[in-house]
Amino acid sequence: MDAQADFPFLRADRHTASLHYLDNAATTQKPRQVIDAIVECYTRAYAPVHRGLYPLAALATENYETARRRLARFISASSSSSVIFTHSATESINMVAEGWARSRLGAGDQIWVSRLEHHSNFLPWQRVCLQTGAELRVIELNPDGTLNLHSAPDLFGPRTRLIALTHVSNALGVINPVGEVAKAAIGRGIPVLVDAAQSAAHEELDVNDLGCDFLAFSAHKMYGPGGAGLLYAKAARMAEMEPLLLGGGMVDEVGDVKSSWAPPPARFEAGSPNLADAIGFAAAADYISAIGMSVINTFIRDLTDCALRSLQSIPGVKVYGPSEQGQRAGIISFNLEGVHPHDVAQIAGEMGVALRAGHHCCQPLMKTLGVAGTVRASFAIYNNESDVEALVSAVRRALRLLL
Ligand code: PMP
Repeated sequence: MDAQADFPFLRADRHTASLHYLDNAATTQKPRQVIDAIVECYTRAYAPVHRGLYPLAALATENYETARRRLARFISASSSSSVIFTHSATESINMVAEGWARSRLGAGDQIWVSRLEHHSNFLPWQRVCLQTGAELRVIELNPDGTLNLHSAPDLFGPRTRLIALTHVSNALGVINPVGEVAKAAIGRGIPVLVDAAQSAAHEELDVNDLGCDFLAFSAHKMYGPGGAGLLYAKAARMAEMEPLLLGGGMVDEVGDVKSSWAPPPARFEAGSPNLADAIGFAAAADYISAIGMSVINTFIRDLTDCALRSLQSIPGVKVYGPSEQGQRAGIISFNLEGVHPHDVAQIAGEMGVALRAGHHCCQPLMKTLGVAGTVRASFAIYNNESDVEALVSAVRRALRLLL
């Protein structure tokens, strides 16, 4: 992979150029193509969206709707009106919990998540269940972190109202069989939400293959800008959903007593649209597509595999998650026995290796693993073997200093 030249961050100055940035599951650096698209918008084509009649406003509106069409294509959605712009994956999931699930839940109903979920795909369901008398059920894990579907015999039962699953675990890198779960769920009329925050950059996302009812992800984890997210919803689900935010741009007719809403997706995009970031988001999707998702996927898996084998060969390193290729995306979580993960990340940081340490917004998972947290290395298309070597050196140094 020769993507490094596309990322100004990697040659911006002495500090960033010498950095081994392995915190890509938290957020990714941006390629020139995305930065240029945003600069171009602010330089030549910035105006209100869906609000002005003059040519510049028409251009802004056209660029915004073109960005929506490009993102619909990225996930193979047949209609761009099934794509809602949000500010983040977190907001997308909360929209479904509050705008769709809340009014459909009652005592005895169930929402299922897995033990791997990020708090963003756990807390919205927990709250809506607590407030409606529904039950939040959890699919437990096998020892290697993969889903243990035998632990969830009622998953497709008559009380299940929704299954909300992460595609790729941000904490362990496990790839969940979301397509298989969705297929089984569809047969029983159970909607499925896929949290694709960690998969959008490296795994093929085709909503038809996945068969999901809802799909949520953020731009910033797939080389796009911060502050932009997406919610895909099947037309039937979209029609059932209440808008969470009310305000400008989402109305049809406003009266003193009653008002009516615009058709989707505008219904769910109250307030002034985030034009430049929508364009940057689409530029990121196009950037990924131009390289080819399967090329990216193979590259990330090979690099991760190389790091995994190196880390597993170091005595004292405990790696979490599956060892088999095909079950793990570009994320490795590990601990040094008897060492706090923050200490490892700090030593690595001093050596120019950017790792994440902590609970990764997955406290239920950490409790199950019996740890306060883990150290996490996560890979992107601008990483290479030198980053893996730096990671391994940092881990060896941490072992020497801390044990
Ligand atoms: N789900 C997963 C699996 C994630 O990794 C994250 C971000 N760490 C989120 C949801 C939330 O994404 P955001 O913070 O961009 O809303």
